[in-house]
Amino acid sequence: MKISLAIKNRSPGMVGAEPFGEGIKSSDAEEPPSWARSVEEEPPSKSATARDRFFARIPEKDWNDWRWHFRNRITTVDELTNFIPLSAEEQVQLKLVTIQYPLAVTPYYLSLINPDDKDDPIRKQAIPSFDEITFGGMNPEDPLAEERDSVVPGVVHRYPDRVLMVLTDVCPMFCRHCTRKREWRNGGWVHSQGEIDVMLEYIRQHRGIRDVIISGGDPLTLSTRRLEGVISRIREIKHVEIIRIGTRFPVVLPQRIDGELCAMLSRYGPIWLNTHFNHHREITPEAAEACDRLLRSGVPVNNQSVLLRGVNDTVEAQLKLCHGLLKIKVRPYYLYQCDEVRGTEHLRTPVEVGIKIIGGLRGYTSGLAVPTFVIDLSQGGGKVPLQPNYVVSQTEEELTLRNYRGRLFRYRNPRKPISAESTPDSGTGLISGVRDADRVVV
Ligand code: SF4
Repeated sequence: MKISLAIKNRSPGMVGAEPFGEGIKSSDAEEPPSWARSVEEEPPSKSATARDRFFARIPEKDWNDWRWHFRNRITTVDELTNFIPLSAEEQVQLKLVTIQYPLAVTPYYLSLINPDDKDDPIRKQAIPSFDEITFGGMNPEDPLAEERDSVVPGVVHRYPDRVLMVLTDVCPMFCRHCTRKREWRNGGWVHSQGEIDVMLEYIRQHRGIRDVIISGGDPLTLSTRRLEGVISRIREIKHVEIIRIGTRFPVVLPQRIDGELCAMLSRYGPIWLNTHFNHHREITPEAAEACDRLLRSGVPVNNQSVLLRGVNDTVEAQLKLCHGLLKIKVRPYYLYQCDEVRGTEHLRTPVEVGIKIIGGLRGYTSGLAVPTFVIDLSQGGGKVPLQPNYVVSQTEEELTLRNYRGRLFRYRNPRKPISAESTPDSGTGLISGVRDADRVVV
């Protein structure tokens, strides 16, 4: 609607874009960019093929059992060589890496990797790289200062109305870009019942807390019964309005999202679930079914992806990811700039890449498919959203705005209602000499 208004009014007020300075282009090109026209449809999953290649003899019953996957995670470089070709030198290098940053990948997620492609975007998230210990050694281990803001062990209270609860440091997979990879060396802990009692007591005593986020390590590594023990007690606290669960299980081990878990979650709503798809090839039939089970249980699913070099750092990759998510009814929520964490520098991208991606999505696809690009500031400064600058200039009376195609528009700034005295032609609604519009192409 807004677009057609602008086009309708284009001729009377249109002037060249040059007066507004360098770098602002008023493009007349009506054709969308080539990538927006040519996003190919790919089969939703290659997992069946890859599964046949490595796990053909695994009975269906085991393959569908998340505990089997968990027990059979690949955790050593020697095991990894059964699936991924590694030279002798690479094996030595990766063994050095895993002393500092361990390896864990589920058979399911491994089955999504193309073993013959060293640059495979799925591989980059799961398989260690020598760069983890050779790049960015000066980066902090805890840039978000979560340990500083921890009020009792396992509770981070940074914003007045919400807290982060960490129940365990165990994850189904060790994602190589993880912000909390400092925790991996601690050997896998789960907070005791006594510690959980202290965490719940803190929440109970702080009446301003209306939102509890249970996040990673991955809380779904706990048994459903144990998780219910925590969730049911949070639900008893009257001032807690919503519970959010942060988990990567729908992506790395979707078999975990079983009927028992979904039935439990459905009893304690409103519960929101944030997951972490980074690439469209992760959206397999198994992952889609897991998300569907959650949605049918009344649990909305949002996605928080991380912008990663060589994984999803192009407009095309993000478009495929976000369109794929919408097809399984998962809302692309955040696109995070990869945190400045030691051991992740090789996967980080310049901030401009994220801004350019948002500029390449906005307007070319539904706003539903456009996540908010954010930087989580170091030292606990919180999230800052970033996007291309669409405001070219601004006064009290009007703004000059750039649309997604670079065309410039004036927009009347309605400081006070237009009265008969203040408008030059109140009878016709003329503003700045252009009929019927707050939006004027300049
Ligand atoms: S699942 Fe989340 S917390 Fe666990 S390693 Fe991956 S990114 Fe980190």
